[in-house]
Amino acid sequence: MNEQETLVIFRRWPETGDIIALFPELPSDYEGRLCDAYEHVGQHGGADYHGVVQATRPVTEEDANGLIAELTRIGYRLKPIKRVSQRVHGSRRAAARAIRNAPMCRHKHSETGVCAACSGVTFNPEAER
Ligand SMILES: [Zn+2]
Repeated sequence: MNEQETLVIFRRWPETGDIIALFPELPSDYEGRLCDAYEHVGQHGGADYHGVVQATRPVTEEDANGLIAELTRIGYRLKPIKRVSQRVHGSRRAAARAIRNAPMCRHKHSETGVCAACSGVTFNPEAER
């Protein structure tokens, strides 16, 4: 179980009414340009925080209840916020830097993360270039 709270901001796509959860502190790429995001349809992915915020509308926590329940069920401890400070964007980039500098895991994984067996990063950025 993840004991750490995850900052989350909920937004709604005007065309579909679907809600997206943005995790501004969690990097989705090696530069920390993108943050992790989650939607009921499509689930995990990377998102350009500012681009998504510009294209979407704010939602009340009540509107996000369904998605909050879904995320809580899969193990998140959420801390909903309305606005993201520069400090948070900075800590996402710092987290990306820490991942870049960590040793590489040689086990097989399908997703980016930290290997439970060796504490290495489970993803090789060289393979993406
Ligand atoms: Zn490993």
